[in-house]
Amino acid sequence: MHRGAIQGGRMLHVTGSIVRPSFSRISQRGVLSKTVGELKLRAFRLKHQRTGAEWLHIAREDSNNAFSIGFTTSPSDSTGVAHILEHTTLCGSVRYPVRDPFFKMLSRSMSTYMNAWTAHDYTQYPFATQNAKDYENLQGVYLDAAFRPLLREADFRQEGWRLERGDSGDSTSSWGIKGVVYNEMKGAFSDAGSLFATRAEQQFFPGTTYAHVSGGDPQFIPDLTHEQLVEFHRARYHPSNARVYSYGDLPLGPQLARVDKAIAQFERMQPATVPMEVRPFGLRKVTEFGPVESVGSPDKQTKFSVSYLTNDLRDVQETFGMSIFSGLLLNGTSAPMHQALIDSHMGSGYSANTGYAPFTRQTSLAVGLQGIADKDIELAEKRIAETFARVGEEGFERRRVDAALAGVELAYKHRAADFGLSLMRSVSTGWFHGVDPITYLRVSDAVAQLRSTIDSGKFFEGIVNRYFTQSPHQLRYVMLADPAYGQQLDTRENELIQTKVAGLGRRELEKIDAKNSELAAEQAKKEDVGALPTLTLSDVAERGQRHAVDMGVAGDSVPVQWRTTTTNGISYLRVINDVREKHPDLWPYMPLFCEALTYLGTQKRDMAQIETDIGLHTGGISFSPFVTTDLGNLGHIEAGISFGSHCLDQHIASMYELVLELVRETNFSNTGRLRALVSVMSTNMFNEVADSGHAFARRLAGSTLTPELQASESLRGISQVRFLSGLARLKDLEPVSERLRQVQEVVFNRLTMRTAVTTNQGSIDTNQQALDGMIANYPQPSNSTTAESPAVSGSKFTAEAARVFCPLPFATNYAAQAVRTVPYTHADSVRLQVLAKLLTPNYLHREIRERNGAYGGGAVYSAAQGLFSFFSYRDPQPLATIATFDKAVDWILNHTISDRELDEAKLSVFGDLDTPLSVADEGMAYFTAGISDDMRQERREQFFEVTKSDLKDVANKYLASDEAKKHTSVAVIGEEGLDMTEISRWRITNICTSSSV
Ligand SMILES: [Zn+2]
Repeated sequence: MHRGAIQGGRMLHVTGSIVRPSFSRISQRGVLSKTVGELKLRAFRLKHQRTGAEWLHIAREDSNNAFSIGFTTSPSDSTGVAHILEHTTLCGSVRYPVRDPFFKMLSRSMSTYMNAWTAHDYTQYPFATQNAKDYENLQGVYLDAAFRPLLREADFRQEGWRLERGDSGDSTSSWGIKGVVYNEMKGAFSDAGSLFATRAEQQFFPGTTYAHVSGGDPQFIPDLTHEQLVEFHRARYHPSNARVYSYGDLPLGPQLARVDKAIAQFERMQPATVPMEVRPFGLRKVTEFGPVESVGSPDKQTKFSVSYLTNDLRDVQETFGMSIFSGLLLNGTSAPMHQALIDSHMGSGYSANTGYAPFTRQTSLAVGLQGIADKDIELAEKRIAETFARVGEEGFERRRVDAALAGVELAYKHRAADFGLSLMRSVSTGWFHGVDPITYLRVSDAVAQLRSTIDSGKFFEGIVNRYFTQSPHQLRYVMLADPAYGQQLDTRENELIQTKVAGLGRRELEKIDAKNSELAAEQAKKEDVGALPTLTLSDVAERGQRHAVDMGVAGDSVPVQWRTTTTNGISYLRVINDVREKHPDLWPYMPLFCEALTYLGTQKRDMAQIETDIGLHTGGISFSPFVTTDLGNLGHIEAGISFGSHCLDQHIASMYELVLELVRETNFSNTGRLRALVSVMSTNMFNEVADSGHAFARRLAGSTLTPELQASESLRGISQVRFLSGLARLKDLEPVSERLRQVQEVVFNRLTMRTAVTTNQGSIDTNQQALDGMIANYPQPSNSTTAESPAVSGSKFTAEAARVFCPLPFATNYAAQAVRTVPYTHADSVRLQVLAKLLTPNYLHREIRERNGAYGGGAVYSAAQGLFSFFSYRDPQPLATIATFDKAVDWILNHTISDRELDEAKLSVFGDLDTPLSVADEGMAYFTAGISDDMRQERREQFFEVTKSDLKDVANKYLASDEAKKHTSVAVIGEEGLDMTEISRWRITNICTSSSV
């Protein structure tokens, strides 16, 4: 086995004979393969001779190998056929005829990534793993799934849509529509931002494939039939339509053989092309209705954007130039559009589709606002036009341009943990549209070429003239908020159901009832998954990865954790400031404080100038609130602020100076900018609830159980959403400025700080010097003490059970149940972790996703937080799901755990433990939480030892006992109208402080 070794930064030949006769290299301009020195890789582009299947292989010394197979799947309607096919393909294949092999493989593998998605024009099935045997196993399962799926009608009904009675056992109860994709898309469409972006795009591309929703529009999904699904697969999932991607240090030869075999029965066919002809319509204005947002004032609920047709995606250099142009135009406080639209407070933030969209064959750029009053739209439009005109005359400040280009180069030098997958993402869209994917890998060439084009003058001015001053295809899209919107959706859904049912005879309805019972029976059936390949515990390394660190001191007394390794010429800095004094009243201000540090500007300079310096010299500076629980005591937490940055080694001194400038000199009196920031944060955070409601529900449930979760709820939970929306309503922000100054005093303190630096051997001294300099000038409050009492007092905390419901204007719900257990070092901690891994695939997935029709659900155990939790995601029946959580406990207590179930649960745990880290994250578990390599190794060994009876013991002790019930809370976030029959037992928490909305 020859692994493309890197020597002196140059990749050697992978092997002379990697190309089997059935695959040939694609020659373009004489280039068979390309060595990309700065990325330390060698790329090969191949074509399957008989079928025309394309393959991109990237040889690189990286054990996190990645693979993907994908097909062109542009839709011609909004039934979501491509998306439902993506799901159904993973429900069993000829060689692996088990239900849901994809989810089954999650626990038989140590994959670092497994997923599938449907983009506008293509569907992809990627995975990554560090284990060679696992790679072969997964490749086999993916290839069989793609080319020989069973696509049974029952799978289509489970994953796509089906008519089903509300109470499936009762033949008189009313009909509804169920299905995994149906619910997933209902959830996606209830997110006001993504609804806006989708509808605007549909209006922008009439008559093309992009006028349809590739994921499926809930009102059209029920038009799709099983026959249409099967036919779509036949026509599209064909090697002639396929793109295969592989990455890493495994040899290519055996992979070529495996794929060759998997497509042996296929002949060549005409590949699908993306029908794409935009007929310019000049200026078009469209107004539609959408939902009301429950934060923000009632008279500022409109969203609007202006979209412009830009370049052909296949012009790679122009696409790159456009993405830089878009960043300079829109992002950051010094961007002209930001100054024209956001600083004016006309809206609460950019509209969800704002930005350059290189995801369609003909690309586009949109600019708009959400949270704007109708009467201001015209003014905003005028400002947008004026801003384009100004950029068309003046271009951008040269220093900002240089900062943007430096950012691109730094991003590629940074060694990310999922490099293989991120490369795949960056080439995919172009590749599916016929661009040579290797073109995208020449990042330095692209930057150099762009720089010289800019040097020769008027590059950005040219872009404005080409696409924006007299656009032949421009859409002004407005979405007005209609309080009755949600109700109308319900009514429309009911009408749809009535029409469907009315069109069916009694016989047919009986047939559907029968099919539903069959589906339920099949879902409940225990099946033999022996056909699927699996890793065993003997494939797991006994020793985990170690990341050696050395401890040092800077500025006389501040602890420094040094990690010296190969960093590609980058230095990483991380600082934690522990807040030991009690300031519970200041705590909710922490998120705003952290954002304010990189938004308000300092006493000396405005943010625009600082931002440019940050871009020129670093990969960004970020601050965030920090909470962690004592490894031996759930009642003790450490709380404060964590911040960091990274930079090329030649900019070390500047990086430390910039960090210090923000820490010392941020101008919290800048209430004008503060107002804009509060408004943007409040809107973003509310939108986040629609997106990750399960995480909010978990925090809400956990908040009554441990001090860390109480703090997390206050910082990142529903309480924080409420807090921010309260601030957004304040007329006078001066008191808030004063609070932020108080936080600054309390948080930044030389006596309570610790730092970590990851760097190359050669840059230690430079970092030490810069760090000493920063600490010498770091604040040390005159009245500071080192009293041992955390910001949120843990000692007085008493855990108590609670049931909380948070109503929101969503058409979907999230449920969570949380249980306080034991700290990290307790012997039961590893057992609980294995238990969570066993419950998810063997019980919860089936019950919550397949039976209740939620998009997802499961159990997770956070060892560091000592919290065991159950959750559901986009769930039509959260109360049934909560009952399921309890049933899961009964199930495990009465279930005979098999050897395989236990081993699979442990494999999943090891898969998590061995997730590759980016350079920046190595050694961070020790720095942030005190978890050393030795502790991790000891814990690793304990996982091997966990027995079946251990799992029953901990289930009984922590989840089932009467004592356990006192430490168990539940939370539901979701539909206002949700039928809470036992409402008296629930505490209602509203997201808004005022009842005016
Ligand atoms: Zn999906």
